[in-house]
Amino acid sequence: MITVALAGNPNCGKTTLFNALTGATAHVGNWPGVTVDKREGVCKKGEQPINVVDLPGIYSLSPYTPEEVVARNYILDSKPDCVINIVDSTNLERNLYLTTQLMEMDVPVVVALNMTDELEKRGDKIDSKLLEERLGMPVVRISAFTGYGIKDLINRTISTAKHPRKGISVLASTSISDAISEVAERMKDEISSPVFHAIKLLEGDSVERSVHKKSASYADKLLLTFNDKIFGKDIEALVANARYDYVTANYSPALTRKDGSGAKLTKSDKIDRVLTHKVFGLPIFALILFAIFHLTFAEDFLFLGAIIPSFGEWCGAVTAESPALGILFSSGLNSPGVMLFNALDLLTSTISGGVAGGLESVGAAEWAVGLVNDGILGGLFAVLSFLPQIVLLFFFFSMLEDSGYMARVAFILDRIFRRLGLSGRAFMPMIMGFGCSIPAMVNTRTLADEKERTATIRVIPFFSCGAKLPILTAIAGGMIGAFGLGQISDLIVTLMYILGMFFAFVAIVIMRSTTMRGDITPFIMELPDYRAPGAKTTAFHLWDKVKHFIKKAFTIILASTIIVWFLSHFTWNWQFVSDEKMGLSILSSLGMLVQPIFTPLGFGAQLGSAGWVFAVGAVTGLIAKENVIATLGTLASAVVSGFTANEALEGVDAVEALIGATGITGAGCIAFIMFNMLTIPCFAAVAAAKAEIPKGKFKWTLLFWIASSYIAGTAIYTVGEFIWPVAIWLAVIAVATAVIIWFNKKNPKKVLRTA
Ligand code: GDP
Ligand code: MG
Repeated sequence: MITVALAGNPNCGKTTLFNALTGATAHVGNWPGVTVDKREGVCKKGEQPINVVDLPGIYSLSPYTPEEVVARNYILDSKPDCVINIVDSTNLERNLYLTTQLMEMDVPVVVALNMTDELEKRGDKIDSKLLEERLGMPVVRISAFTGYGIKDLINRTISTAKHPRKGISVLASTSISDAISEVAERMKDEISSPVFHAIKLLEGDSVERSVHKKSASYADKLLLTFNDKIFGKDIEALVANARYDYVTANYSPALTRKDGSGAKLTKSDKIDRVLTHKVFGLPIFALILFAIFHLTFAEDFLFLGAIIPSFGEWCGAVTAESPALGILFSSGLNSPGVMLFNALDLLTSTISGGVAGGLESVGAAEWAVGLVNDGILGGLFAVLSFLPQIVLLFFFFSMLEDSGYMARVAFILDRIFRRLGLSGRAFMPMIMGFGCSIPAMVNTRTLADEKERTATIRVIPFFSCGAKLPILTAIAGGMIGAFGLGQISDLIVTLMYILGMFFAFVAIVIMRSTTMRGDITPFIMELPDYRAPGAKTTAFHLWDKVKHFIKKAFTIILASTIIVWFLSHFTWNWQFVSDEKMGLSILSSLGMLVQPIFTPLGFGAQLGSAGWVFAVGAVTGLIAKENVIATLGTLASAVVSGFTANEALEGVDAVEALIGATGITGAGCIAFIMFNMLTIPCFAAVAAAKAEIPKGKFKWTLLFWIASSYIAGTAIYTVGEFIWPVAIWLAVIAVATAVIIWFNKKNPKKVLRTA
C-alpha cells in the first residue's frame, strides 16, 4: 500500500481533506494548530488503497516550532511515496512559500489547490495549467469541503507516486546557488534529499548542523570563501526573500483577481476592527460567553419575567398548574436549553414513576424497588438529564470555533497571557478543556517549552469540562430553590466557569514564577477568514460528544451508581438496610470517616448525619465527574427524611432536598463545586496527564490538584461564611501596609556610602 502525507499551512483544510479521503471524523477547526501530531487513516476511494497521514500545519520547514519538526522529520525519515501539498487558493502566494521548500526534497509532490469554492465566490481565478507548468509538479483543483476534485486528486496522486522525483530548488539564480550545489554534491551519496539538507546547512539550521557536523563546517568554509557578495549576510533572510521573490515573479501570474488589486479591506477585516478591538475585545468576549450560558441555562429568558412583572406572575401560575406548560415557562420564558432539559426531565420522571408503581403493584421486595429506582434509574437519569444542555453548549462553542472567532480571542488574549508567563498558544488547549481535558492535554504539544506545557496541563481541568457541567447546574438549581434566590442559575453557572478560570490563572502565575519558570513559546498566528460554520462539521462534533456521553452513562457511571447503592444499603455483615437506617451502611461509615477532612470547606462535620453524602459524592467523582451528581441523586432520597424509595430524587431536586436536610450554606455549596472542579480529574484524564507530563513531575501534579482544590475550597468557604471578619482583617492589613509604606517614604533609610 502506498503512503501519502498531507502537508500544508495551518488552516488550509488538511484535516477536512483527511476526513474526506478516509471517512474519519477527526477534529476540524477554523483555527491554526488543531492538528498537533500526525494522524493516519486509509483511503479506499481510488483504484488502490492509500495510507494517508495528516501532518500538523506549518508555514515553513525550519525547526522553530514542534509542528515544523514533526512534519519535516516525517517526510525525511519515513519517506512517504508522495506528498499532497494542500494550498489554500485564497491565499496563494503565502501557501506556495512552503511549496518551494517541499520541492527541494526527493519526494513526489502533488499540489492540491483547496478552497476553490471560496475562490470562485470571490470571483478570483487561478490558471492551474499555467501553475502546473511553472511548478513542474501536478496541480489539482479541489474543495475538501464540497468534495469537488477529490476523485481526480486520488488518481493523480496514485500515478505520481509511481515516479520518484529528485529535489529541485527555486534558489538557482541566487548568490548562493553555487554553494548549494557544492554542498549538495558532497552529501548526495550519504543521504537522500541532498538539496534540501544543503540549503538548511547554509541557512545555519540548528537541527541540521547538529546532525551533519562535517558537512556543516564545510558549508561554513564555503560561505566564507565563496565570494564577498554574500559574506556576512544573514543567509536565512536572503533565502526567504529569494523564495518570495520567485513565487511573486513566477507563480503569481497564474492568479487573476476580480477587482485587479487585492488590497481592499475584506469583510473579515472590517469585522475584526470591532471584535479584536484593544479595549472592547475582551468585554465583547465576556458578553458572548454570557449570552451562550443565558441561552443554555436561563429560566427567565431575556429577563422578560423580571422586566414585565405581570408576565412573570402569569408564568409562575401556569407552571404550577401544568407540568407540560412548565416545560416552556418558569418565572418567565425558559431559554431553549432549559426547555429541552425540562422536556427530558418530564419524560424521565414519568418513566421512574411508572416503573416504581409497576414494581410495587407486583409486590416486589423493598430492596428491589430501591435498587431499580435509586440505584439504577436515579443515577442514570440524573446524568442523562443534562445531555441536552451539554449538547447545546457544545453547539455554541463549535460555532464560535468554526466561524474563526476563537482564533481572534487567542489573539486578544496573547498580550495578557504573556504577562502571566504563557503564550497565546496555550489558549487553544484551554478552550478545548471546556469540552474534555483529555484532547486538551494532548493539544498542549504545540507548546515548545516543557515547563510551560506542564503548567498548562495542570490547569486544564480548571476549565470545567462537560462532565462537570451537571455539578454546576444541579447545585446552582438546588441553591436557588433552597435559598429562594430567584432565577439566576445562568449567572451562577457563568460565575463558576469564570472562577475556575481565575484559579487557573492564579496557579499559572504562581507556577511560572516559581517551579515552572521557562521560556514562552513564540506565537505567530494569522487570523483565519470568518466562515459560516459547516453543518456537517458541527453535526460530527456534536454526535461525537453525544455518543461518548451516552456510552459513559451506561457503562462506568451506571456501574458506579449501582455499587454506591449497594454500599449504602448493606451493613458490614451484609445485612440489607432500608433507607431510614442507611446510617448503619458501609458507605455511611466510610463517608463519615472522610467527612471531617472537608470541614474547612464547609461540607464536612458541620453538616450532621446526612452530610457524608457530599464527601462520598466528591470521592466517586474521581472515577468520572458525572458520578458526583449521580451519587447525590442515589443517596438523597434515602438520607433526606420525608421521601420514600419510589420518589426518586434527581439532580436539582436532590440537591435542594440535601441542602434543606444538611443545612449546608451557600458558601459551602460553592466550595463543593470548586473542590470538584479543581481536584484530581477523572481516571481517564489522570492517565492522559501521566502520559503527557515528564516523568517525575506526575506525582507533584497530583499533589498540585489536591492542594489547589483544598485551598480554593477553604478560601471560598472562609470568605463566604465569615465575610465580615475577613473584610475587617484585610482592612487592618491594608491600613498597616499603607502606614508602613508611608512611614518608610517619609523617613528613607540612610544609605551609608563608603568612599
Ligand atoms: P487544517 O488546520 O489545515 O487541518 O484545516 P481544517 O481542515 O481544520 O480546516 C480549516 C477550516 O477551513 C475549517 O473551518 C474548514 O471547514 C474550512 N475548509 C476546509 N476546506 C475547505 C474548502 O474546500 N472550502 C471551504 N470553503 N472551506 C474549507
Ligand atoms: Mg488540522
